[in-house]
Amino acid sequence: MVEQLFHPKPGSKVRLSNFDPSDRGDYDRSKADDEEDALEQKLASLQERLYAEGKQALLVVLQAMDAGGKDGTIKHVFDRVNPQGVRVTSFKAPTPEELAHDFLWRVHKQVPAKGYIGIFNRSHYEDVLVVRVNDLVPRDVWEARYRHINQFEHLLADSGVRILKFFLHISKDEQKERFQERLEKPDKHWKFSTGDLPVREKWDDYMRAYEDVLSRCNTDYAPWYIVPANRKWYRNLIVTRTIVEALESMNPQYPPAEPDLDKVVIPD
Ligand code: AMP
Ligand code: MG
Repeated sequence: MVEQLFHPKPGSKVRLSNFDPSDRGDYDRSKADDEEDALEQKLASLQERLYAEGKQALLVVLQAMDAGGKDGTIKHVFDRVNPQGVRVTSFKAPTPEELAHDFLWRVHKQVPAKGYIGIFNRSHYEDVLVVRVNDLVPRDVWEARYRHINQFEHLLADSGVRILKFFLHISKDEQKERFQERLEKPDKHWKFSTGDLPVREKWDDYMRAYEDVLSRCNTDYAPWYIVPANRKWYRNLIVTRTIVEALESMNPQYPPAEPDLDKVVIPD
């Protein structure tokens, strides 16, 4: 079960140094790809049932350092589901209008409706990550947000939204290699931003901020999964498997058919 392996016990203090970003269990690439392929098939049919049922929603939150694989995870894990039932939201630096509201205002609007899978590429957690590391608001303001986030996620869970949160855990060396690749390949230049370098310089501050998120906002109703993400194929396997297990336990059902369908005659 993914559950015990990558989901720390709620309430426990997480130390990221105890989680190896290069872990690959007992998998090699071809075994992982085969298994992931079968899981993607399952994901597609579970998503169809979720959509048809229209009573529950799934929210997938992806957080990672730059080049951590958020975009790649979305591209690979969801490439077989019906796009009509999935909504991706990428959270950028807030606009003036968003800043004029509480920090969850823009987030709440993007929570998936019943029947849908919502994917957050970055999320409300940026408000206790980039905001905290760069002192964008006073300490007492971000300090209260862990509680606000837990209460918000509790509301969503009580409203039929299943929440899965993934921290894609890469090493600092792996980030360097991925940045290097972006510099070397012309078709990856667009992914490189010199603005990512000062963020890299604060790596240790970010890891501390992530440890607080993973310790303080890891609950039964909105669990965090710490995904070893140096190997993209293992990352994809773990994320897909966790989502499939959650959807299986949600057990969405096709709605009952109209009565007497067997007597219906389609007119010429
Ligand atoms: P990217 O994911 O590369 O498109 O970058 C999005 C940028 O938006 C990142 O630099 C994030 O740190 C930034 N961002 C997202 N949410 C927030 C937020 N709540 N406050 C400040 N910056 C944010
Ligand atoms: Mg980026």
